[in-house]
Parts: sequence; structure tokens; C-alpha cells
Amino acid sequence: MPEYDAVVVGSGPNGLAAAITLARSGRKVLLLEAKSTVGGGLRTEEVTLPDFHHDICSSIHPLGIASPFFKSLPLHDLEWIYPPSEMAHPLDDGSAVMLERSVEMTAQDLGVDEATYRRLMSPLVERYEHILHEFLGPLRFPRYPLAMALFGTLALPPAHFMAKLAFRGERARALYAGLAAHAIQSLENLATSAFGFMMGMLGHASGWPLARGGSQSIANALAAYLRSLGGEIVTDHEVKALSDLPPARLKLFDVTPRQLLRITGNTLPADYRSKLEGYRYGPGVFKIDYALSSPIPWRAKEAARAGTVHVGGTLGEISQSEREVWRGGHPERPFLLVTQPTQFDASRAPEGKHIAWVYCHVPNGSMHDMTKAIENQLERFAPGFGDCVLVRAARNTKRMETYNPNYIGGDINGGVQDLRQLFTRPTQHNYKTPIRGLYLCSSSTPPGGGVHGMCGYFAAQAALAADQR
Ligand SMILES: Cc1cc2nc3c(=O)[nH]c(=O)nc-3n(C[C@H](O)[C@H](O)[C@H](O)COP(=O)(O)OP(=O)(O)OC[C@H]3O[C@@H](n4cnc5c(N)ncnc54)[C@H](O)[C@@H]3O)c2cc1C
Repeated sequence: MPEYDAVVVGSGPNGLAAAITLARSGRKVLLLEAKSTVGGGLRTEEVTLPDFHHDICSSIHPLGIASPFFKSLPLHDLEWIYPPSEMAHPLDDGSAVMLERSVEMTAQDLGVDEATYRRLMSPLVERYEHILHEFLGPLRFPRYPLAMALFGTLALPPAHFMAKLAFRGERARALYAGLAAHAIQSLENLATSAFGFMMGMLGHASGWPLARGGSQSIANALAAYLRSLGGEIVTDHEVKALSDLPPARLKLFDVTPRQLLRITGNTLPADYRSKLEGYRYGPGVFKIDYALSSPIPWRAKEAARAGTVHVGGTLGEISQSEREVWRGGHPERPFLLVTQPTQFDASRAPEGKHIAWVYCHVPNGSMHDMTKAIENQLERFAPGFGDCVLVRAARNTKRMETYNPNYIGGDINGGVQDLRQLFTRPTQHNYKTPIRGLYLCSSSTPPGGGVHGMCGYFAAQAALAADQR
């Protein structure tokens, strides 16, 4: 193999972001990917029937559209679709609480909590770019201390406690609980409020869009831009040891600590190795992709307007579901994340047909089949759902990890994102390892999970800074 300035292993959004950042600063870059296509968590495949295009992993991109790094790129072939409403949260009374782009419209539907919601959300939305600067990256000396203090104060409490303290009505509490459940933790954990406010703020500030054609379009656009900068991409190349890499001053790994330990063997010093061994992975996911004969028949008709639907009922139920998973159990009434892309992008299924993307949280490594529990929840809020199902394709945590080795035990965030591991991912040194020129750039570094490329961007910046010295 020829010599490169930098080799990046893994082509998830963070691997692609790292490779682009290095190539943009004039480095000769090679990107190696184990699978036959690029994308990691950004792949779209026909896993049910021909011509039904399912997002295997990420589907909705609040962090993607808001990412300062993605915003800086000329991603010509990427088209974002904005559903009329960001998210719907159906309730048993047959209505749905709606997360609209407008704070005002969202608040108006929250009854007794109208003023509180407006008072909490509006200041965040006004300062959202400053908040993202402080929180979508490693811990640094703050450039916007006011924004940091504002968000930090709201972010620290457990979401269950915050929901009860801030809101009086069931509608606002349920809405907030569903947003906070993106933490994939018990809502009684410290700092789970961060997820509730972040997801809500992004919904109002920049939206929860999907990519036309599916998430693979994001990966393809990033890969095309990397090639336009002279970067090379080699797929079907699994890196099993450091000796599998061509000579390069910089080596960046879009993998999680457990994989890095395997790949580097005894090359890493013992104290760093033991820190990586102590890194904690979080709950996993059980996912089902559906090919449907018609749209999901929500009882709350307004739910059809939203790209994402949170299925789980009240704050009490969602808290109970997430608490049970956190403690190693399988809830009978799991909290579901649902997306319905074909409501807004007809290219994803044959004419008149639809797809749905559904997952729930389960304990790390769980082999439990959640299909029945998931479909009971869907029937509860969309009676007749079962009659629309043409084909279902389910993945438990093991199949998730086989599909993408970064999903250890089905953990989709590259490690639990609780207060202890939010900024010290995977150690206090974040991207840097004790081996000169070797860096981690995956979601196991700050700011963590999600499609935003910021882990890759900051890892590449750290590598470039050291390379220039
Ligand atoms: C079911 C599900 C739903 C999700 N929903 C959303 C969502 O709606 N919105 C959102 O923003 N995020 C979502 N996510 C999370 C998001 O996909 C991830 O956080 C993101 O993809 C992480 O990016 P990454 O680059 O760190 O790693 P990954 O995307 O996991 O990419 C890692 C890549 O490295 C490759 N690799 C690993 N080991 C090696 C090796 N040894 N040699 C060569 N290549 C290797 C893998 O094959 C993979 O391609 C979801 C994830 C899942 C699974």
C-alpha cells in the first residue's frame, strides 16, 4: 500500500468527518471500512421487500441538521425533508401532543403548562447556536458562559424530577419524558434532563428532518465530498490489528474502546488499557423495520403529520419502562421510537405502500424478542396496525452488533452517556491515546452518540494540532 499522512478506520459519520477534516487541511487520507458500503449508522437497505428502503440505524437528524461541522460542508446531493411537525406523542385519550417547529404552537396545546413551556424553551431556542458550541464537543473553556450556565442548570437534574417540578399537566410531562428518553437511561439519572431540553430545543430551532432517499444519502454525500478532496476510500477491509494499516503518521479509529483494545493488543500502556476496560456500555436496542400496505393508522390523526412518533403514554409509564431497562429488565409496555419516512418521501417504497422504523430500549446484550410488546404498544395507539404489516424484519442486540461491531451489546451510542461518561469519553483525554499519532474518533468520544460528525471533527483537530508541532 502507498504511504498516507492519515488513515481513518471506520466510515460512520464520525470516521467520514475525521477523514474530511484531515483532507481539508491538505493531508493525504485513506479511509478503511470493514463492510462493503460506507456509512456505519447511516445505511439504507431493502431488508423487508424489494423497493422498500429502510434505515437500518439512524433515521431522523436533529443533530445532523444542527451540526456546525455538517453546516460547513458543501453536501450538494443531500436533500433534507422537513415533515410538517417534528414529533407526535399519542395519548390514550385519542389525541397526540405535538412538537411543532414553533414554540408558540407547541405551548398552546399544553393547557396549564403553556406559559411554563414557553418560558423554559424560548431562551434556549434564542441561544441554541451558543449552546451547541458549548455542548456539542469536548469540555473547553466556555466561549459563551451565559448560554452554558443557562443550559447547564436545566440539564443537570434527573428528567423525571424535572418533568414533575416544571410541569403540572400530563401532556407536557409526557412530551418531555419522551424527549428525555433519548438518553437511553433511567430518567431518574442525573443529567437526563439535558436530553429532554436538547431534543426539544433542536426541534424548535432547526427541526428534526430526514434525508431524501434515506440516511445512506448522508453517507454518500460525505463520501463524495471526501473523494473530491482527494481522499481514498477502501471498503471490505476490516482492520484486525495495527499491522493491517499502511504506514501513516496519523491513525484515527471510528471504533469503541473494546474494539480498540482488540486491535492494538498490548501496544497500549497498561494503565490506559485498564481505563478502556472500565469504560461502560449502556442499554441496547431491539429494532423492527416494517413494510406496510398503508400508513400507520394512528387513532390521533394529527400523528400522521410528524416524522417521528414517541409511543409510550404518560411520564409515569415512560419512566417505568426506562427504569426497568436500566435495571436489566424487559418492560411489558416499552417506550418506542417510531419514524414514518414514506409519509414525506414516496421514493422509499412502491406506490401506495409504506415503511415504518421502530425500536425500543433493552438491557445490553439482551436476546429477548420484543416483537409482541412493541406491537401491543403500536396497536394501543394505532388500532389495526397489525393488519397493515406486509413483512417485518427484527434485530436483537446480537444482530445489531453483528451488523455494526460498534454497537457493543446493542448500545447505539458507543457507551453510556451518563454524567460520568458524558465529557470524559472514553477517558479524560478524549480523542488522544498514549500512542503517538493514534486517536479515537467515534461516538465513544465527546459529544457522543448521534449523527453530527462532531466527534470525528474534534478528533481530527486534535490530531492535526499534534501533527503540526
Ligand atoms: C437503531 C438505531 C437508530 C438510531 N437512530 C438515530 C437517529 O435517528 N438519529 C441520530 O442522529 N442517530 C441515530 N442513531 C445513532 C447513530 O447511528 C450513531 O450514533 C452514529 O452512527 C455513530 O457514528 P460513528 O461514526 O461514531 O460510528 P458508526 O456509525 O457506528 O460507524 C462505525 C463504522 O466503523 C466500521 N468499523 C468498525 N470496526 C471496524 C474495523 N475493525 N475495521 C474497519 N471498519 C470498522 C463499522 O463497520 C462502521 O461502518 C441510531 C443508531 C441505531 C443503531
